[in-house]
Amino acid sequence: MTAAVNAGPAQRSASYYTASLNDATQYPTLKGTVKVDVAIIGGGFTGVASAVELAERGLKVAIVETNRIGWGASGRNGGQVTGSLSGDEAMRKQMRDKLGDEVDDFIWHLRWRGHQIIEQRVERYGIDCDLKRGHLHAAMKASHMGELRAFAAEAERRGMADQVELLDQSAMREHLQSPLYLGALKNRRNLHLHPLNLCLGEARAAHSLGALIFENSEVLDIVHGDQPALVTAHGRVEAKQILLAGDVYHKLEKRQLKGKIFPAMGGIVTTAPLGDLAAQINPHDLAVYDCRFVLDYYRLTADGRLLFGGGANYSGRDSRDIAGELRPCIERTFPVLKGVPIEFQWSCAMGIVVNRIPQLGKLSDNVWYCQGYSGHGIATSHIMGEIMAEALTGTLEKFDTFAGCKHIKVPMGDVLGNPLLAAGMWYYQMLEKLR
Ligand SMILES: Cc1cc2nc3c(=O)[nH]c(=O)nc-3n(C[C@H](O)[C@H](O)[C@H](O)COP(=O)(O)OP(=O)(O)OC[C@H]3O[C@@H](n4cnc5c(N)ncnc54)[C@H](O)[C@@H]3O)c2cc1C
Repeated sequence: MTAAVNAGPAQRSASYYTASLNDATQYPTLKGTVKVDVAIIGGGFTGVASAVELAERGLKVAIVETNRIGWGASGRNGGQVTGSLSGDEAMRKQMRDKLGDEVDDFIWHLRWRGHQIIEQRVERYGIDCDLKRGHLHAAMKASHMGELRAFAAEAERRGMADQVELLDQSAMREHLQSPLYLGALKNRRNLHLHPLNLCLGEARAAHSLGALIFENSEVLDIVHGDQPALVTAHGRVEAKQILLAGDVYHKLEKRQLKGKIFPAMGGIVTTAPLGDLAAQINPHDLAVYDCRFVLDYYRLTADGRLLFGGGANYSGRDSRDIAGELRPCIERTFPVLKGVPIEFQWSCAMGIVVNRIPQLGKLSDNVWYCQGYSGHGIATSHIMGEIMAEALTGTLEKFDTFAGCKHIKVPMGDVLGNPLLAAGMWYYQMLEKLR
């Protein structure tokens, strides 16, 4: 079994994804001074997707990354592109003042915008990332089925009837060889993919459009003013505008950002290739996630492994035995996989925001930030990349809608943030039991 997590700066975490990446390009360390229109801190989906958008609009961009492109959550996640923005309900409440009755349409449209961007980008730049369609949102109790029915009704009302289908228990058995579920919503609009290969492919696309990319280059400081700049140990990027896209990993701008976003650790494993068993347990090759607040999620990889993630550690600390924690979940889900070898395990931090609304804002006149997708970041980061590119080129409508949302800033966030988050999650898990 492969050892887990962060082997050190500039190394990729050992994972199924790094073992199957298809672009080993190493970008240089930033040395000396470069000048661009937009300097971006962080080479995850937020930074890279924004870079593609800006470069496509003709701007000169530089991405500056502490480690490697896709090193953070973007290269280590579950690969499920869902139509959830995480904080949809909170967004609806907070945005109603600004958008009035259009708020429901705004959120519904946004839900699927990331899917469109990803599919078009994969097609346009020929990115090989095992992109497939189809999810099961699986119900474990009657109340979950009620929620799925309500979602299906909304999808039908909004013209998506051909994309969603409610499965009862017997139909579910034809889709998954698992005793766990009462039914599911089958969603053909949702996607699944190899996230590290998508991130690397998008970086290559940005590079082909003239973007500069620097790895092994931690940004130590942001200089504000008429001529803002990023400062690293060996270099400096002078820019007209700066975008901070380091999610939960950066320690910059603490005065304004401390206490607004917190790390939760998520663990994922992949089994050995399952051979014929793969088609037996999941014959339609769908990505699956269940309806619980702290959920299990899984899918098959291109080479027929089960990639399984579950739970989350809200203490902000890493789990030492991810395989030990997830094996019982795998065996409960698919009894036929009892004793299956687990070949990779890894973990990663995701940025959690208390109200689960992505945080977009400005730190000064020409320094922007965008962070915090609370576990639903693949589609959302691409939506936000588009919104940030629009904002940096003068169209502020959607940015203002997000930036106008109120966020809780936890006092002494680095001490109290994670304990409060853990308590909040415990509360939601208790509510879950009553649902
Ligand atoms: C275990 C796990 C499973 C998940 N599963 C899913 C899923 O199935 N579907 C889904 O939609 N979402 C999922 N997510 C969430 C999703 O992966 C994230 O929301 C998304 O990738 C965040 O992208 P990002 O670019 O904002 O941040 P990241 O990908 O974390 O990138 C931030 C980057 O900034 C760099 N950086 C930080 N500080 C600096 C600095 N000072 N100088 C230079 N660079 C810096 C970091 O090195 C890092 O590479 C999951 C997350 C985890 C952890």
